[in-house]
Amino acid sequence: MLLLMLEIGMPIDCVITADTGMEYPEMYRHWDKLDQVLYQERGIHLTILRHPKGFEWLMFDQPKEKLKTLENRAKLGVTPYGNGWPGIKVRWCTGQLKTHLITKEVNRLKKEKNALHYVGIAADEPDRIKDEVYPLYEWGITEAEALQICYNRGIDWNGLYEIYHRCSCWCCPFQRIDELRRLRRHHPELWAKLLELDGRALDQFGHSALGRFKDNWSVEQLEQRFAAEDAKRKETEMEKDKSGEIRDMFKGVPPKNVIIAVDDLPPKTLEQHLKERQKGQEKTQKRKKSH
Ligand code: SF4
Repeated sequence: MLLLMLEIGMPIDCVITADTGMEYPEMYRHWDKLDQVLYQERGIHLTILRHPKGFEWLMFDQPKEKLKTLENRAKLGVTPYGNGWPGIKVRWCTGQLKTHLITKEVNRLKKEKNALHYVGIAADEPDRIKDEVYPLYEWGITEAEALQICYNRGIDWNGLYEIYHRCSCWCCPFQRIDELRRLRRHHPELWAKLLELDGRALDQFGHSALGRFKDNWSVEQLEQRFAAEDAKRKETEMEKDKSGEIRDMFKGVPPKNVIIAVDDLPPKTLEQHLKERQKGQEKTQKRKKSH
């Protein structure tokens, strides 16, 4: 949206985004690039809003004050600090780290400068349309088309969208399992940090809703699942390589000249093995037909 607005000469006084502190390293580099484009084109810098204490403080250390919350925590035997993992019912992160900061700043600009607020919601996201101005939506540009427009102009998020479907916080518990599998493969350092965060959450909040990363999965359980999948894949690849190697080794050698010995059984030629296998297959087929 921003690139098209720059190209067609729309007035832009300020470009705002919010940093949860849990963005991918590629996203920070993307913002740097965007900042340069913005400065070259309009002489302004990207405004990045941040919560003064950040994601981890909110997750583990924010003191709870409401009497009802304190009573609930005491009942559950859970510490009166921190919000734990965000959940469907209490998505504290979006509110505190993004929406609240942006709304506050936008309201200030509207009040002081009579600003218009343009929001990058695409034509295929009609449910997200509220009462701001939505150029992409008005131009009928879908999310996929918007991404392609950026790629065509050399803005590629440093490859993030080629790996992930969504590129918000890398630690988001609402991600699909496959996105987490990709996180482990493509960003092992962030995966290690996620394991550490989840370990802390379990220590502090136990198996209550606040300590659960996903309903049925802790990050450690996912680690075991993904590691087992990797081991299985490697084993299959090795088996494939081995059969390929054996095939290559005997390429061009007549089957009667290849002797195979299995355990203590008398050695046979490959030709004999193949004949026996064929006979076996024929017998099985006959049996199947007679039933
Ligand atoms: S991406 Fe996930 S963790 Fe980050 S603010 Fe949004 S809901 Fe919260």
